Amino acid sequence: MIKEIQAKTMLARVKGEDDWFGLYYNMNLYRGCQHQCIYCDSRSECYQIEHFNTEVLVKVNAVELLRKELASKRVVGTIGTGSMNDPYMPLEKDIRLTRRALESIAEFGFPVHTITKSDLVLRDIDLFAAIQEKTYAAVTFTVTSVDDDLSRRLEPGAPVSSRRLEALRTLSLRGVLTGVTLMPVLPFIEDTEDNIRQIVTRAAENGAKYILPAFGMTLRDRQRAYYYAKLDKLFPGIRPRYERAFGERYSASARNARRLGEVFAELCSRYGVSRRMTVFTPRQRTRAESLQPRLFD
Ligand code: SF4
Repeated sequence: MIKEIQAKTMLARVKGEDDWFGLYYNMNLYRGCQHQCIYCDSRSECYQIEHFNTEVLVKVNAVELLRKELASKRVVGTIGTGSMNDPYMPLEKDIRLTRRALESIAEFGFPVHTITKSDLVLRDIDLFAAIQEKTYAAVTFTVTSVDDDLSRRLEPGAPVSSRRLEALRTLSLRGVLTGVTLMPVLPFIEDTEDNIRQIVTRAAENGAKYILPAFGMTLRDRQRAYYYAKLDKLFPGIRPRYERAFGERYSASARNARRLGEVFAELCSRYGVSRRMTVFTPRQRTRAESLQPRLFD
């Protein structure tokens, strides 16, 4: 079900330094996500998205509000979108909130970093290219397995991994900064050397400049219950291993996380792919073109 709501603010200041993506602001145009990944942390109680599994809330005044905020911000910092919901979930095709927000971001000259699992992002390639010319636009695809059958089970509402990697290639060829988030790596399901090798290889072949990994996952409250119920249905017999690995803890590592990290690092180095990115964080209004991201080994 889709419901319309009014937002109070659009650009939330990221607390402290963002070590992952170098974001300065976070922007959420929607609440809830049609992709319905079984491991999604946004399902957790603390985010107060009551009907996460059945409902998406659309912030109908988002663009109007965003334009006012863009005009008044003292700092031209990187705007991130896609951490709490996917800005290119299926409904975006008709609602076009992400596209309209990007038009404003391009007009005001802010850098943007979009995280997605959808090749619908290609619809807006003109805007990413325009932003990239003025400052920078990064598009990061989340890929946790290159096995399309597995991604259909884990991420049932999202385009399969092979479509994401093709989209990555298209954006990269157009000069947009592209990379991959290899997270989460689900214990007992995706934590094999072969999976890590295939993701890094395919990402690099398709033009990824960086891959950001997390060799493990998080689970809490109602999301833990949801995930365990899905495990019982989709991967019978695995749940007791999770219960032993997690107990009541919030996070658990992948099996052999250290070895997977070594394999990952060796391959990234072989392909010249960075494992970390950051962006200079301005303390006052700064020319956006000075905010180019830095990539690290
Ligand atoms: S795409 Fe991201 S926000 Fe959407 S359900 Fe999957 S993990 Fe959650």
